[in-house]
Amino acid sequence: MKTIVLGKSGLEVTELGFGGIPIMRVTTDEAKTIIRHCFDLGVRFFDTAPVYSDSEEKLGAALEPYRKKVVIATKVWAKDAKGAAKELSSSFERLRTERLDLIQCHNISNQTDLDRALGPEGAYQVLVEAKAKGKVKAVGFSSHNPDIALKAMGLAEFDTLQFPFNFVEQEPLAKLFPAALERGMGIIAMKPLGGGLLDRADLCFRFLQQYPEVVPIPGIQAIGEMDEIVGYYKDRRPLTRKDREEIEGIRNQLGGRFCRRCEYCLPCEQGVQIPKILFVKPQVKRFSAKQLLSMSKASVETAEKCVDCGECVEKCPYHLPIPEMLKENVEIFRKFQDEHGAG
Ligand code: SF4
Ligand code: SF4
Repeated sequence: MKTIVLGKSGLEVTELGFGGIPIMRVTTDEAKTIIRHCFDLGVRFFDTAPVYSDSEEKLGAALEPYRKKVVIATKVWAKDAKGAAKELSSSFERLRTERLDLIQCHNISNQTDLDRALGPEGAYQVLVEAKAKGKVKAVGFSSHNPDIALKAMGLAEFDTLQFPFNFVEQEPLAKLFPAALERGMGIIAMKPLGGGLLDRADLCFRFLQQYPEVVPIPGIQAIGEMDEIVGYYKDRRPLTRKDREEIEGIRNQLGGRFCRRCEYCLPCEQGVQIPKILFVKPQVKRFSAKQLLSMSKASVETAEKCVDCGECVEKCPYHLPIPEMLKENVEIFRKFQDEHGAG
């Protein structure tokens, strides 16, 4: 598999990485088999985070024998220095390593988190100090909000940016990715399959191959998934006219009517967990009944508090008909709940 240098981080990574969210849904033994299979296929870049349940432990166990051959990236969710220091120290243990390749401020997607993470007592300071001491090689951040990401890049010396990018979420191509490249940053594409929204892996990865400076990290939860994707990197066939028409068809069908999880609409004064509820529909295909029900039940219940004030619609940059979409997703969830007979 080809390798690329992830911008000024200097990290040499495979052009295809491994996203560590889905392994939290399989057993430790299954995760080990999946991760090692990806390694055998040539993948040498693995991304995880402490908030992905036991993903770090599983990666740590699976990759221990290959530590020197792989690049491991993780994140800190805490936005304050004390919390970030605690998380970071636990990550070293869970990932069974004394030195991390890339540490990222996780999800800087609103002004409050930006102010806290980059403020005087913020998480960023801890990560930069860890880099200065040689405990981590590079410091990056992840975000779902292009405007906030641009601000973060202007305020701190990040080495990498991690952002959602796929053929229905092309917004970062306009300003964000060019700005990151101008600063010499490496770019990591999360959600190359739209976080479960897109099931045409062939189109997704052939689209992404047009941007060789962007490293996708598909979340993998079964052996065959990475084999299929690696196949598209072996043949490297460019998008045909038919592929482009199909992509346009899917884009038109979705019509921009899907949530990008940017969180601009939050907070809702009634406490409705908008993005989490709007994500039920794409997740129905990806999770087992037990997982989806336990993961989304509490969020879905907050939909009942919606008073249809319309404030979120005003704040959403895509002007999604949020109250209507909340109802659709609640309906899908209830139907799913009835079909699977769990409460
Ligand atoms: S319309 Fe509903 S979800 Fe949106 S801000 Fe108002 S109460 Fe919250
Ligand atoms: S509803 Fe709109 S503002 Fe809220 S997270 Fe989704 S895309 Fe962003």
